[in-house]
Amino acid sequence: MSTADRQEFQAEVQQLLDLVVHSLYSDKDVFLRELISNAADALDKRRFESLQDESLQAEELAIHLRVDGDARTLVIEDSGVGMSRDELVSDLGTIARSGTRAFLDALAEKKSSTAPDLIGQFGVGFYSSFMVAEEVQVLTRRVGEDTAHLWVSDGRNGYTIETAERDDAGTTITLRLKEADTDNGLQDYSDPQVLRGIVRRWSDFVTHPILLEKPPAETKADDESAETESEEQDVPTETTERLNSGKAPWTRPADEITEEEHAEFYKHVSHDWADPLLPVPVKIEGQVEARALLYIPSKAPMDLFWREGARRGVQLHVRRIFIMDDCEELLPDWLRFVRGVVDAEDLSLNVSREILQKDRQVRAISKFLVKKVLSALEQLQKDDREKYLGFWREFGNVLKEGLLVPGEHQQRLLGLCLFESTASEDGLTTLAEYHERKKDDQDAIYHATGSSREALLRSPHLEAFLDRELEVLLLIDSVDELWAPTAPEHEGLPWKSVGKGEVELGSDEEKAEKKKEREEKTEELGDLLGFLKGKLDGKVKDVSLSARLSSSPACLVAGEHDPTPAMEEMMRRMGQEGPKVQRTLELNADHPLVATLQSLHAESPDDELLAQAAEVLHGQALLAEGGAPEDPAAFSKLLTELMQRALGAGSK
Ligand code: ADP
Ligand code: MG
Repeated sequence: MSTADRQEFQAEVQQLLDLVVHSLYSDKDVFLRELISNAADALDKRRFESLQDESLQAEELAIHLRVDGDARTLVIEDSGVGMSRDELVSDLGTIARSGTRAFLDALAEKKSSTAPDLIGQFGVGFYSSFMVAEEVQVLTRRVGEDTAHLWVSDGRNGYTIETAERDDAGTTITLRLKEADTDNGLQDYSDPQVLRGIVRRWSDFVTHPILLEKPPAETKADDESAETESEEQDVPTETTERLNSGKAPWTRPADEITEEEHAEFYKHVSHDWADPLLPVPVKIEGQVEARALLYIPSKAPMDLFWREGARRGVQLHVRRIFIMDDCEELLPDWLRFVRGVVDAEDLSLNVSREILQKDRQVRAISKFLVKKVLSALEQLQKDDREKYLGFWREFGNVLKEGLLVPGEHQQRLLGLCLFESTASEDGLTTLAEYHERKKDDQDAIYHATGSSREALLRSPHLEAFLDRELEVLLLIDSVDELWAPTAPEHEGLPWKSVGKGEVELGSDEEKAEKKKEREEKTEELGDLLGFLKGKLDGKVKDVSLSARLSSSPACLVAGEHDPTPAMEEMMRRMGQEGPKVQRTLELNADHPLVATLQSLHAESPDDELLAQAAEVLHGQALLAEGGAPEDPAAFSKLLTELMQRALGAGSK
């Protein structure tokens, strides 16, 4: 003790320590993760330094945990680089790191009541050991030096440093544990079972072995069952137990990982019970370095569409050390079903969610991950359509949410989409296949939105397209109503809803001819059209002649930029009620009913039948597209009257 030198902590460190010890840190177990990560760092550094100088090589690069329940101590020992006296002072007695400084700055701005969540965000490395220990001893010897030093502190009254003995380079941290207090999250860290659990949860994939030296009690029990081998008692392999698997699969070459290993690892990180559909290994090199092993699950979780309380995102590791679960910042919302691990080389272990959201490196990593996931899906779509279909059925709806985000991914996402179509009776089609089948003079991707394939196929909107064998994509998911109206061109073709705006089909000459024909007819039928428009005032915007009907007498058409009825309904459900958008009633000039109405109107424009016909045409158009007349009872009464009149006329 004569050489012991008492020193005060840097003021900021003391401030930090007081907070760590006295605030309610929600997860005290993390101290072990911090100490193990420091030990792993030290081992990495030693490995690196011994590359230059072989004499610095360690006999074994490992982390040992040792407990003594009676003395209430936990020892974490590593054969890493160790610390010199100066390093002890600067690394454990002062704050040099920007993260911790930022933490204190943030703290200065806030009231002390918010301290716990701030601590949770930043993590405090070595100092977190004072959450669980009365006293911390650090016996360390810098590699390449002969003298060891012992650093001792209770976290309150500064620390002492004295010279000491240690056989080899490395660091031995001895925690004199506080009494366990499970109500306050303080477990008994001298209990091997507790340590096993924590290591498995937080440090399983640390690449260095984490070895638990069995406490005397457990060793004795083993010896009794194997009395004959009692002389070999001090052979370390018999008394140590490896706690971490250390396999870090994402660090291994992707083609060496077997399907079984993928399945095991995927289940470990995702808590899923089923095997994954597809692994997506990622290696990022250059300015930003990271590795990732991502997975597309085979089944959608129940909470995929929950707004709150849903698990999403991947695990974030930094240099093999687990940092957080459910890291949403690394992938966009429309890839929220992706699971796995991202392991970044250059992030701070104390990285917080706040930092993640702003960090440039994180953005670069995220961008790369998105690209990789998209290419993996593109590949799957090409190589294994059956399997891709399985993916699409589970997650297509989520992926399509990405189409709502204007920009770089829209084209690739469109390429990944599978659609119901008028051209395929069973099975779904891609846009590439649509383009292959399209007619030479076709200048748009035709599509209809609605609630089901069957309803859409009956819609009068499709008649002219079906007649001309023009393929129409049938968009039947509710998210389609949202992206389709603003979908960008694909391979030079714009998107055209068959139920909206003007439709003119055929070659340029045909179009011109048809248009002229329709203008003449409109002139001819002008009186009738005007009359109907007057009768349906307030219900429709206009009454005109249609280019999209062949067998039905009438249909309703929305303006090019107006919402569809389904879209209006969705907005209403979301509480965004706007003025009801009126549509145009289009008539089929070639339908006999229209000709009959025209002559009736010419002969006796005041006939009550004409007014009734206007109502019926409108109601029928609504029914035909799967909707309903505004007043079903009145509509049904009207039909009865018309039927009576028709039957009466017939019996005359
Ligand atoms: P961080 O690990 O983020 O730097 P810590 O508070 O965990 O912050 O540790 C502070 C410093 O103390 C480390 O950067 C390292 O230099 C030193 N250190 C801590 N533990 C060890 C150890 N087991 N071996 C060598 N150096 C260590
Ligand atoms: Mg650390």
